[in-house]
Amino acid sequence: MPGATSDVNVDQGSCQALCRTLVSQNGLQRETADISQSVLYTSLMGLLLVADKEKEQLNLGNGRVGLRNIGNTCFLNAVVQCLSHTQGLRDYCLLKSYRQERYSKEDAKLMEAFSQVLAGLWDVNGEDTVVNPRHFYTTFKEAVPCFSGYSQQDAQEFLRFLLDRLHTEINRRPYVRRPAIEKEQKHAKIRIAEEASAMWKRHLERDDSKIVDVFSGQLRSSLHCSVCSHYSTTFDVFCDLSLPLPKKGSAGSGVTLRDCLDLFSQEEKLDKENSPMCERCRRRTQCTKRLSIQRFPQVIVIHLNRFSMSRWSISKSTVCVSFPLTSLDLGPYGPVDCGPILYDLYAICNHSGTVNQGHYTAFCLEDDGWCFYNDSSVTAVSENELYTSQAYVLFYQRSNSTTTATRK
Ligand SMILES: [Zn+2]
Repeated sequence: MPGATSDVNVDQGSCQALCRTLVSQNGLQRETADISQSVLYTSLMGLLLVADKEKEQLNLGNGRVGLRNIGNTCFLNAVVQCLSHTQGLRDYCLLKSYRQERYSKEDAKLMEAFSQVLAGLWDVNGEDTVVNPRHFYTTFKEAVPCFSGYSQQDAQEFLRFLLDRLHTEINRRPYVRRPAIEKEQKHAKIRIAEEASAMWKRHLERDDSKIVDVFSGQLRSSLHCSVCSHYSTTFDVFCDLSLPLPKKGSAGSGVTLRDCLDLFSQEEKLDKENSPMCERCRRRTQCTKRLSIQRFPQVIVIHLNRFSMSRWSISKSTVCVSFPLTSLDLGPYGPVDCGPILYDLYAICNHSGTVNQGHYTAFCLEDDGWCFYNDSSVTAVSENELYTSQAYVLFYQRSNSTTTATRK
């Protein structure tokens, strides 16, 4: 994130400086200027606006602004801080780009309310203030009525509902009906990659938005029938990876994010009851299933699934999961020979406490280091303080190979 827009700012800054100089030297002011001056002024301002739009330059505060807790809303505050530090989404909201992208007749009410919160969080003069998310939360509950019923809100569920609803409001293809799923003739010769990109294209034909640009990836699930040895592949779009946590080895020892990813992608035996229909046997058979990432998103949201449901209760794992801050390589979980696919961490949503009595907070990366967001309070923290047994949702941004090379 740091430095990503620096080359853009140079141009933009010099353009603004030029306009300021011209305006001040010539005493150009709308009220007092004669016609020619006012025409010049207008053209200059027009140029400035065009430049603003094209170069997407934003005058931002330092992002160290808290969110008021308006009654058990720490889950919302923590998720909003993580999303607010997702640069692609943040800039899209602050520039109100969705207004130009409106394809649906519906009002983008939630998008407006969400952007309003972000505008408060990134206000240049916003230091020492706290943003109240009440209007956003009310709008969210109106848009997603089923969410109001929950007594203990889960941040991960909230994130899913929120992204899904925002996507619906800003979908560039709102009127495309989902075609009936017709089984395509699969020729053995069609390679996996071609099939995957055909499926992705079909997805974009009906679901295409900034949310998809930033968060969506494609998961590949390979099934192998133990009866007839038939292999089949399906592709699903994902907006987050929900990873199981391995059982602790020796007491007190933690696990690594890699352990969780290995467990997620390891071959799993499915018995008849839980397996899908084998295409060749045309019945449910015992099979093995393996998951891998076919298409990598710009931002990968990794959910450490600490909550497990048994028949009567939900329990929470407090195992400490260690994770890399930079250069998380997801290449090993992608297509064969895809090479290293690197990601850098920029936000963490934490859950502390128990299943019934919990509290959510967030760590987010600012230009000059990490900050701890605990509702209305924001404090600087060291990198060592990020590793706790409370890490719940990790937000990784794909690293740009050119910026990685020059990073300090
Ligand atoms: Zn079979």
